Amino acid sequence: MKLGFIGLGNMGAPMARNLLKAGHDLTVFDVVQANVDALVKAGEGHAQSASTPAAVLESGVDAVITMLPAAQHVKSVYLGEQGILSANVVGVVLIDSSTIDPMSARDVAKAAAQKGALMLDAPVSGGTGGAEAGTLTFMVGGEEALYERMKSLLACMGKNIVYCGGAGNGQVAKVANNMLLGISMIGTAEAMSLGVSLGMDPKVLAGIINTSSGCCWSSDTYNPYPGVLENVPASRGYTGGFGADLMLKDLGLATEAAKLAKQPVPLGSLAQQIYQTFSLQGSGSLDFSAVIKLFTKK
Ligand code: NAD
Repeated sequence: MKLGFIGLGNMGAPMARNLLKAGHDLTVFDVVQANVDALVKAGEGHAQSASTPAAVLESGVDAVITMLPAAQHVKSVYLGEQGILSANVVGVVLIDSSTIDPMSARDVAKAAAQKGALMLDAPVSGGTGGAEAGTLTFMVGGEEALYERMKSLLACMGKNIVYCGGAGNGQVAKVANNMLLGISMIGTAEAMSLGVSLGMDPKVLAGIINTSSGCCWSSDTYNPYPGVLENVPASRGYTGGFGADLMLKDLGLATEAAKLAKQPVPLGSLAQQIYQTFSLQGSGSLDFSAVIKLFTKK
């Protein structure tokens, strides 16, 4: 297929490389020229650059994938003066894989439909490792028939492609999952810190938790206590992984969406406040499991 790709950051660049590896032609755009050059000049496949989002469309693409930081970037790339929807998009498939709030996703999908485009929201989980390996999970919202049509394209970048319902529902699944992850990471951090301060060896304690009813992904796959697991951010000074500020952004999306839905999320709100405190202390660029530092002795 002839594809457009906009947003070549930590996630977008490896996703675009996987599309090239699968034999697709790509026209790419990013506001950071170095990110464009890194992809186009690597010469791994057929990639060319465009100077604006509208120019990506004007190159004659069948579908466009966007992977941008937050809702304001998505709105500017789709609805802005030289944005995607300022070009002729009739019959073009637009897939936004950024993590944004469900309401903004629905607004953009509505504007796209009014211009004759077909749109899916398809946020991902799996992190930069999953993006490199092509094993991301895609949570897809939009028309089911369009999801069926686009499944094999998304499979070039991911291994679980899940249909979640109408427009915006991919984002609903993503914010619900990440709210639970934020809460469970803080819970694991508290439990590990309590056990160690009362005299337990952290590895023995993690072993008990992981074969008992307290087990969760944050304890058995991504334990926040240094040295419990190899190859996790906690064992390399909390570098790499999923930034605490990105977790703070996702908890903000969950609590905002909850407010609009008049749905109580007391633990989600508390988790948001705890990550806000952590970020204010200057630790937002560390992996989100570093939140354990709030509960352990310096
Ligand atoms: P990033 O900041 O590394 O990349 C974003 C890219 O978008 C950058 O290259 C930036 O220059 C570009 N950009 C910003 N504004 C633009 C504009 N107006 N036009 C064109 N390009 C623009 O972010 P990332 O880590 O790749 O994350 C992207 C999205 O995926 C976010 O919504 C994030 O929450 C989500 N996500 C990230 C991870 C992760 O582990 N990093 C995991 C799952 C989901």
